[in-house]
Formats: sequence, structure tokens, C-alpha cells
Amino acid sequence: MSDVQKVTFFEKKQTVCPICAAKFFREDLLSGGGRLIAGNLTKELRRNYEPSKKFGAIHPLIYAVTVCPVCYFAALPQDFASVPDASVSKAEVNTDDRRESVNAIFPQLDFTAPRTLHEGVASYFFATMCYDFYDKKFNPTFKAGLASLRAAWLLSDLDKAEQGESWDHLALLFYRKAHFYYELALERESGAQEAFDAALAFGPDLDKNYGYYGVIYLAAYLDYKYGPTADAEKRIAALQYARRMMAKIFGVGKSSKNRPAAILDNAKEVYEQMGKEIEKLQPGAQVDDESSDSA
Ligand SMILES: [Zn+2]
Repeated sequence: MSDVQKVTFFEKKQTVCPICAAKFFREDLLSGGGRLIAGNLTKELRRNYEPSKKFGAIHPLIYAVTVCPVCYFAALPQDFASVPDASVSKAEVNTDDRRESVNAIFPQLDFTAPRTLHEGVASYFFATMCYDFYDKKFNPTFKAGLASLRAAWLLSDLDKAEQGESWDHLALLFYRKAHFYYELALERESGAQEAFDAALAFGPDLDKNYGYYGVIYLAAYLDYKYGPTADAEKRIAALQYARRMMAKIFGVGKSSKNRPAAILDNAKEVYEQMGKEIEKLQPGAQVDDESSDSA
């Protein structure tokens, strides 16, 4: 059969863009057949996949956002058609911004052909912009954070695939964006401005939903990894806050459905690393070790 090596397919049913009314066919990942060989889970809760002999390297994340190939309106498939009526004209006006801002980075995008890492990165770039048009019941702040984090991941992949193109610089920018949105999402959640929907797919990757504790973990982890470090005093205060958030995860009890073992283990490890950094910045600082409580 000629399509044995196929990784994706285009859906038979057309999708209609709610902004420009263009009709297009969505590309989706074929499952099974040994296409996806799960590898390790990273500290950022990303699932790595081993390339297979038959299919090569596959990046499942590049197919997870629906993108209109004409106006670049983008959202997760379940949200795509549900953009509020009040926002349609705003999203339409924003079309030139979407086109121009991406043109400087990827001048040749084609969302009607099988996607590459370029379209993958761009899809999350557009999603980060377009969630601005959704109201709070869609959890736009969290989704902009998730899209930024995935853009950073795919840019890191791109940096490996195309060395010397400085994709790592852009990855760093998106990690910082992710940090900003994750913290803001928690702030809005606790302030009852944007409650997390019970059915929200928190990811952060496609293989598993790490839930609310995954958001807390990532907000603290992103602060530790990508937060500002220039001012030592501010850094120490930020680390102490992030450490308390980490301690919340493992300090409360044993692993449960809400707190998967992977998060507990990572949280403890990162908690200790943060303590070491505080010690280094401020030798002799009182670093209370809350991890002993849960032993
Ligand atoms: Zn469109």
C-alpha cells in the first residue's frame, strides 16, 4: 500500500472559519501502527517520543490547534467554532496583525499541506493571539499559557533541527510568555475572575492531564527556570514564593489521582534545587526544609 508511511490524514468533513468563512480540511494524526513510541517525561511534563524506523520523528503537538489557512484564526478544535459573536469583527480586524507578525518569522507557511514544525510553532503563536477573543468561560488565560509553552517546546525542537538559526532565542521568549500566563491564570483562578472549567484539558502535553496541581507545578517551575535573575533580592523572594508553591504540592499528602507521582517527584527535586540556589545567593539564609514533613 502506498500510504503505509503516512503519519497524518486530512479530515473528510470541511471546517468553516468563524471569522472569514473560508472552508478547509483539518489535518489530524493517525494513531497506532507503531507511529508513536513514548519516551521519557521531561521536568516540564512534556512527553518525548522516540523516532521510529518506519515513520521517523513525529511531533504530535503540531496538529493540535485548528488554524484557518486563509486568515490564520486559530484555537483548540473544541473552541474553534465557538468564538463569541461580539469578538468576530475584532478577530477579523486583527487578521493583518496575525499575518504580518508571523511573516517576519516564517515567510512561507502553508496550512493546506501537511504541517511541518514551522506550521506547528505558528499554530501556537496564532492561538496565543486568538484566545484574546474568547471570554472567561473558555479559560483564555490558561490556554494562552499552554499555547506559549508548547510553542517554546516546538521551537526547541526546531532549534535542534535547524541549528544556527537562533530558534532558541525565540523559544526563551515563549517560555517567558508561558511563565507570565501561567502565573496570571492562577491569579485569576484564585480571584474567581476565571475559574478553571472542570473539563479543562490542562495537559500540558497531549498524553496526560496533570490537572490543577500541574498548573501550580509549572507556574513555580517556569519561575525557577525562566524568571528574572538580575536583582538578587527579588530573585530570592521569587524563589521563596515558588518553593512554597512546590511545597503545597507534596506537603499535603501522598500521591492521589489529583497529584500524580510524576509531579510529586519532580516537585520535591525542584524544591531542593531552589533551596540550593537561595543558599548560593544568600549564604547562611534560613532555608526551611518542608520536604521532611512529608517523608
Ligand atoms: Zn479564516
